[in-house]
Amino acid sequence: NIPLLQIDRLKTYYPIKKGVLSRTVGHVRAVDDVSLTIYEGETVGLVGESGCGKSTIGRSIVRLEDPFEGRILFQNEDITHISQRALKPIRTRLQIIFQDPFSSLNPRQRINDILAEPFIAHRLVDRHRVQGEVDRLLDLVGLPRAYKMRYPHEFSGGQRQRIGIARAISFQPKLVVCDEPVSALDVSIQAQILNLLADLQKELKLTYLFIAHGIGAVQYISTRVAVMYLGKIVEIGYKEELFKRPKHPYTHILLNAYPTPDPTLRSNKRLIIQGDVPSPANPPAGCRFHTRCPYVQELCQHEEPPLTPGAHAVACHFPIN
Ligand code: SF4
Ligand code: MG
Repeated sequence: NIPLLQIDRLKTYYPIKKGVLSRTVGHVRAVDDVSLTIYEGETVGLVGESGCGKSTIGRSIVRLEDPFEGRILFQNEDITHISQRALKPIRTRLQIIFQDPFSSLNPRQRINDILAEPFIAHRLVDRHRVQGEVDRLLDLVGLPRAYKMRYPHEFSGGQRQRIGIARAISFQPKLVVCDEPVSALDVSIQAQILNLLADLQKELKLTYLFIAHGIGAVQYISTRVAVMYLGKIVEIGYKEELFKRPKHPYTHILLNAYPTPDPTLRSNKRLIIQGDVPSPANPPAGCRFHTRCPYVQELCQHEEPPLTPGAHAVACHFPIN
C-alpha cells in the first residue's frame, strides 16, 4: 500500500466579508481539520450532503483553493502552498473531473483542438504526434474518432463527460479527483460513465477520489468510503464493512435514505434526520451532528468526538454496533 496523497489536518476556510471596506468578519469553515490518506490504485468515495465541504477538499487537492492550514502531500511532495508555476509539471499527474464538463470546454473550439491543447501546452509530445494522441484519447473514452471535428454543443451530457474525462487522462495521471462526475446525468448514462471510469482505472492504473452526494455511485465504484458532515470526516472504512456495519448515526441515516438492492445492507431501524444543516460559518459546539442526532446525549453537546484510529474509523461518542 503506497500512499499517493496524504492530507494532514487540512483546513480550508472562506472569509466572510462585510461592508464597503470588505472587512473579514468571520470564516466559512468548509473543510475543518480533515486528515485522509489515499493509496495507489484505490478509489476513495467521499460522500455527504451538499455544502459539507467535499468539493472543497477536492478543489484544495488540485489547488483550485488555497488551504488555510494543514498539509497536502502528493507523491511525498508538499503541494499545500505551491505556486501555480511549480504546479504545472505536477498537473500532468494530478487531475480533476467536474460535474459539468461543458463549463470547462471552450464552446468555440472543436473537440480536436480541445483535446490537443494539453499536449501543446505541456510540450511533452512532438507536434506531429499530437493527432495520434487525440485519436488514442477518443478510443480510450469510447468516442468515434470522426467526432473530433464537432463542437461541444453537438454532444449529449454523457458524451461531454467523456470528453472531460479524455482531457483529464491526457498524460495518464496518478490521481484523478472526480467531483460529482455523474450527478447531472440521467441514471442510464450514469452507469455508462461509471463503467468507463472503472475500465480506465484498470487500464491506466488510476487512483480516484470520487465525490458524490448520494450513496449509489460511491457504492459501485469505491474501495473505501469516507462520510463527511459539516466540514469533517465522521466515518471512513472499507466499503463492504462500512455499508454492512455503519457506526455513525449520520451514516445510518444516509444509508436509509438511499435504498440498496440488497436488503441485508439496510439497518433495521429507520432513522429520520431532524432539522436543517447548521451553518459551516458557525458550527455547533461539541459533536457537529448533535443538533440533528437521534442519539444525542449531554456529552455530545460540549465535547467533540475524535476520529478513532484503525481501518474503520468513526467520530462519535456513542457509535452504533
Ligand atoms: Fe450523535 Fe453524540 Fe455520536 Fe454526535 S457524538 S453522532 S451527537 S451520538
Ligand atoms: Mg459540490
